[in-house]
Formats: sequence, structure tokens, C-alpha cells
Amino acid sequence: MLRLDSISKQYPNNVQAVDNVSLEVADGEIITLIGPSGCGKTTLLRLINRLTEKTSGQIFIEGKEINRWNPIELRRQIGYVIQQVGLFPHLTVEQNISYVLRIMGTGKKKQRERAAELISLVGMDPSYLRRYPAQLSGGQAQRVGFARALAGNPSIILMDEPFGALDQITRLQLQDELLSLQNELKKTVIFVTHDIQEAMKMGDKIVLMRHGQLIQAGKPADFFIRP
Ligand code: ADP
Ligand code: ADP
Repeated sequence: MLRLDSISKQYPNNVQAVDNVSLEVADGEIITLIGPSGCGKTTLLRLINRLTEKTSGQIFIEGKEINRWNPIELRRQIGYVIQQVGLFPHLTVEQNISYVLRIMGTGKKKQRERAAELISLVGMDPSYLRRYPAQLSGGQAQRVGFARALAGNPSIILMDEPFGALDQITRLQLQDELLSLQNELKKTVIFVTHDIQEAMKMGDKIVLMRHGQLIQAGKPADFFIRP
């Protein structure tokens, strides 16, 4: 389980990006986080994986506060997927996927096996493992990004507008693929989007954020957006 307890983040320029946010994500649940640009969604995800440090509050993963986790173990425990994908351009698809395993010191053979397993899991032919990111379509790059996020078998996946840069058809296809994978994998997921339809479709629960605060949370069927 992932639990945020009164989390705040103030950047050095005094911007209060996240303001006293408390949130629980149950095991195997997808929470979609929506809200206007600049409301603090990305910052909230980056606080959870410690790409940025919180100003106050506590974040618990499996009951242990994130500051008490070993940083490499925390990186393994949390898969992170972003819109720009962020694949390393000078590394092959295989090397990108096994990046987290490499920093964990996993053996070469195991890395190769895991990369092959993951590329199939995300619906791509193993021949893609030898390609470079520049040789992939947007949808393929996003699949590889997802495979990379799964490499360390994390329990938590943080997704920051993962399909935001894709055309509509690819986007709908990847949404369906992600939902069917989730049926199998049952990860604990926070999925950021500013597309309300995507939020309704992907989320077991929807959380609305504004000015750094959580202002509404509920099941898609109970959720209303004020015009
Ligand atoms: P969202 O993901 O919802 O668009 P962000 O978390 O990116 O929102 O940003 C929240 C607020 O924090 C915005 O006002 C943004 O300008 C500010 N902000 C984001 N990153 C930084 C940073 N590194 N330094 C200072 N302010 C930042
Ligand atoms: P370094 O500490 O080596 O500079 P970074 O923190 O810049 O590494 O992250 C390297 C890459 O790994 C980036 O593309 C980043 O998006 C990705 N990354 C960071 N945190 C995670 C995570 N928890 N899970 C998966 N990928 C991550």
C-alpha cells in the first residue's frame, strides 16, 4: 500500500506546489489524478519516488517511510513512466529496459532474459531489443518505457501523462493494453492525466487536484466535475 500523510512541497522560489495532501492507494488499485496544468500532479509523483524532496509530511510504502528506504531499493520498488518516455538515446531497447537491473547489479544473463520477457509482455517482437529509441514509433517507445518501468518488478507504478503525446488511435489501444496488463499484474498505480475521459476509463478511483490540494475523490461513477 502507498500512503501519503499531509504532504507539502514548497520549491525554493516559494511556490507551494503541493499543499497538505493525504492519500491512500490500495494494493492493485489504479488512481487517476487529474487537474489543470500547474496544480502539482508531476511534483506529487516526483515526491513519491524522491526525484524531489518533500518539505513536510510522510510517505509510506509498505509501512516504511520513503526516507528510510535504501535509494536503489526504492527505485526498484517504484516504476516511473513519463510522457516524454525518457529512453536513453545512446542505449538499445534492451539496455534501456534493463537499466534498473544494471544499477541493482543483476547478472548479464538475467538482464537479457528479463528484457526478452518484458518486451513480449508489452506486445512487441523480441527483434526490437536491438533497436535504438530513435527507430521506434511513439507508441512503441511508450511500450518500451513501460517495460523499463516494470523491470525491477516494482509494486508501485507512477505514470505521468504516459499517453499524452500519442495520436488518438494509439492512445486508445495503449489504454486497453494497460488495463488488460493490470488485470494480470495488479500493480498499485497513480496515473496522471488531464483528460477526463481517460481518467474515467483508467481509474478505479479519480482524484481531482487544484492549487496543490486534493479537492475531490471518488469512484468514476460518483464523480462530477463542476463546470
Ligand atoms: P502539474 O504537473 O500539475 O502541471 P507541476 O507539479 O509540474 O504541476 O507544478 C506545480 C507548480 O510548481 C507550478 O506552479 C510549477 O510552476 C511549479 N514548479 C514545478 N517544478 C518546479 C521547480 N523545479 N522549481 C520551482 N517551481 C516548480
Ligand atoms: P541519475 O541519478 O543516474 O542521474 P536520474 O535520477 O536522472 O538518474 O534518472 C535516470 C533515469 O531513470 C531518468 O530517465 C528517470 O526518468 C528514470 N527514473 C528515475 N526514477 C525512476 C524510477 N523510480 N523508476 C524508473 N525510472 C526512473
